[in-house]
Amino acid sequence: MKNVTMIVPCFNEAEVLPMFYKEIKRVIADCPDYNFTLLFVNDGSKDKTQDILKYLAERDRSVKYISFSRNFGKEAAMLAGMRNADADYIGIMDADLQHSPDLIPKMLEAVDKEGYDVAGSTRSDRVGEAKFKSALSAAFYKVINRISDVQINDNALDYRIMKRKVVDAIIAMPEKIRFLKGIYSWVGFNVKWFPHENRVRAAGETKWSIRKLAKYAIDGILGYTSSPLRIPLWLGIVSGFASVLLFLYGFIRMCVSSLWPAATYVMLLSAVLFTGAMILCSIGVVGEYVARIYTESKSRPNYIITETNIGMNMFASADETMTDAVE
Ligand code: UDP
Ligand code: MG
Repeated sequence: MKNVTMIVPCFNEAEVLPMFYKEIKRVIADCPDYNFTLLFVNDGSKDKTQDILKYLAERDRSVKYISFSRNFGKEAAMLAGMRNADADYIGIMDADLQHSPDLIPKMLEAVDKEGYDVAGSTRSDRVGEAKFKSALSAAFYKVINRISDVQINDNALDYRIMKRKVVDAIIAMPEKIRFLKGIYSWVGFNVKWFPHENRVRAAGETKWSIRKLAKYAIDGILGYTSSPLRIPLWLGIVSGFASVLLFLYGFIRMCVSSLWPAATYVMLLSAVLFTGAMILCSIGVVGEYVARIYTESKSRPNYIITETNIGMNMFASADETMTDAVE
């Protein structure tokens, strides 16, 4: 029997977890050919998430959890899940039932029977999404696909099931600042896409603030292209040319007209301001990359685990296999 682990990052999801558990168990019951593990990653929740996970784990051996010492973000939670999942097929899905568990059997069929390495999902509509958020997100993907060397499917959801080898390739990537959507596309493999309609959250509220989203977007762009580093160079060349032309123009006008000198000050001022702005922008761009080099070189862990039942249950199953062997 093939093993499947579904990774579920949870940040303050106490309201929705019981519903999620019920739904996914219903779907799992319909897939008798697979041995499922639910791996919840509690990303520093402040509500009752941890208590619920412990309660479930005590009653259901297939429930595993990893708890972080604080909120490290969804990327870290997904990474911890992937590092600790040792199944043949590994899936990731949200806890809020926006990712329909009913798709799991079809996704498993794609990776298990149809020869695909990854079963991914794409949103077939943007119903129920804030207009402003969709527009920003569309702009972000347009920019990143244009200037970076990876192509990211802008409708792809964070809901997928992967073969072991894909997950191994992903966790082998040593970078600390992680942007999984880019990593998925960078590692390649053949993907079967499943359209998935947008659903509203079953309970609770979204954990993504505009600030978190902006950071996510900047990490995505800077992580996959160094072309912003070239912007200062181009600005420099263009403004260099412009200033030579301006100088020649001013010099000629000064020679032929006596009214001209007054205007020179204004032009001079604007030129100074323009140059200053460009220098600041350029330093800013370089600074962003330097900051990233700094973060990477500190090489801090992506997360800290305070509590998990993975080791515990692993010993339990090891004992079982030992007694099995003795018998
Ligand atoms: N999440 C997380 N850490 C965070 C933010 C979110 O683990 O810092 C989880 C969250 O619990 C949920 C999933 O990531 O299972 C998606 O989050 P959410 O539903 O809030 O995002 P949205 O669907 O609004 O994009
Ligand atoms: Mg959600």
